Amino acid sequence: MALRTREQYLNSLRSMRPNVYKFGELIEDVTTNPATRRVVESHARGIEAAHDPDLADIFTTTSGLTGEAIHRHTSLMTTPEEMIYNSKLKREMYHLTGSCTGALCVGWNGFNVMWSVTHDMDEALGTDYHQRLKEWGLEFQKKGLLVAGALTDAKGDRKLRPHQQADLDTNLRIVERRDDGIVIRGAKLMICGTAAAEEIFLMPGSAYREDDQDFSLACVVPRDIEGLIIVETRHPSDGRELEEGFDCPTETGITQAYLIFEDVFVPKERVFMAGEYKYTGDIINRFTSTYRACIGACVAGQGDVMAGAAALIARANGLSAKTFRDKLSQMELNNETTFTMGVGSIALGREHPSGTWLADSLTSHGNKIHVATLPYETKRLTQEIGGGIVETGCMPSYKDFTSPQYGHLIQKYLTAGAGSAETRVRLARLIEWLTIGGGVPGCMHGGGSPDGARMVVFNLSPLERYAGMARKLAGVEEDLEEPARKK
Ligand SMILES: Cc1cc2nc3c(=O)[nH]c(=O)nc-3n(C[C@H](O)[C@H](O)[C@H](O)COP(=O)(O)OP(=O)(O)OC[C@H]3O[C@@H](n4cnc5c(N)ncnc54)[C@H](O)[C@@H]3O)c2cc1C
Repeated sequence: MALRTREQYLNSLRSMRPNVYKFGELIEDVTTNPATRRVVESHARGIEAAHDPDLADIFTTTSGLTGEAIHRHTSLMTTPEEMIYNSKLKREMYHLTGSCTGALCVGWNGFNVMWSVTHDMDEALGTDYHQRLKEWGLEFQKKGLLVAGALTDAKGDRKLRPHQQADLDTNLRIVERRDDGIVIRGAKLMICGTAAAEEIFLMPGSAYREDDQDFSLACVVPRDIEGLIIVETRHPSDGRELEEGFDCPTETGITQAYLIFEDVFVPKERVFMAGEYKYTGDIINRFTSTYRACIGACVAGQGDVMAGAAALIARANGLSAKTFRDKLSQMELNNETTFTMGVGSIALGREHPSGTWLADSLTSHGNKIHVATLPYETKRLTQEIGGGIVETGCMPSYKDFTSPQYGHLIQKYLTAGAGSAETRVRLARLIEWLTIGGGVPGCMHGGGSPDGARMVVFNLSPLERYAGMARKLAGVEEDLEEPARKK
């Protein structure tokens, strides 16, 4: 079976029912509309990379299900090496695009997580979810589909559980069960790369109890399924007004979307959980473990680009990159910290009886905390090296830069060190985009908020065992118990 080409992917997007909106308009063709063409371009580069001899090792593999060559982003990860390739792919995608490509990764993770969870459900409950998932997975691999992943619900009041919300639709739920499938209603928000996706993997946003069984659902839907309205979000600078010259600095980009399900029918072949609330905790735990291990590679990849851009703007400003060696080496250290901690948590993981690999929870959640902090230092250092021109985009627009009346004067005063004024401005715009603009990939809340990760780290850390070690070394005989909580 042949790997798909960029053109085949773009044609597939063009053949879909238009259901994506931005700026109040229905987008007829996501591959050309200024609001979405950059996110499509980013994902197309991931397809193209499978045909690049230098990158094919990362972007392709052999299917364990069929023995055929497949796009890596459709594979089941059964060994630590295969999961480390997830990290390598993410880092490389940032090198190719500068930002996130959610439809190359979140659905991939969903497929792997549900592989193990459906296996467990079938063993315990006698359901046939695993076989359904396998059949969908064979299509996923055969077609090399781009699949976004949606866990985050609108949620409503954060202190209430789904069934306690004033409006039950704030969390995606089953409103009707039929012999041939389910009808779902509600919303998933902030979903990465949706406009570039052909399908969307839907999973629960949290671990649920019995009262919330209608919210305990997992399935895959075509991105253009009847009844689904998609509204693209993101900063207007990713949109149409800034199309000229260097104002929108890259041909790539990322968008997030609001997915609004208005009584959408999902046939049972595509349903992998419908009410089995006891397994929602496994979905969340396994999803976040892998995701948070590998997300360290995303921010490392963007950090690599920031280090490169910082070195170039130093030269464009007239300085040697070596002037900033301390800052540049700190940036490198930040990148390698999140990358290798993720690799470490993969190495410390375990094989699930279904055959897929699960990353180690304690270290992958620890990595998420680094991901929510270190890249911000890397961004700050990039801005510090670049000067005011990069910090808040203190530079004129392309129209002013090329104005017949005063453009030559702006160019004269923007000329500094190596290269032209335009080169300097292009680099500054790129840095602005990477550090405070549309290229910021969700280090803080993407893949879940850091406080959730802190809670897992605290809960999984064997503090009492460590206290025992300290007690022994200090020669302390008595027990020191936690004081009772004040009433
Ligand atoms: C760039 C980006 C890309 C994303 N891509 C995807 C995607 O592809 N797929 C997807 O499913 N999601 C995606 N998300 C959503 C992301 O997973 C959520 O933003 C994240 O899980 C946090 O949820 P929230 O934004 O609703 O924050 P909130 O729930 O509003 O949390 C805000 C703060 O309150 C804290 N908090 C929340 N509830 C409680 C509570 N009960 N008690 C104490 N503290 C609480 C949180 O820890 C956090 O610090 C993306 C987000 C971003 C920013």
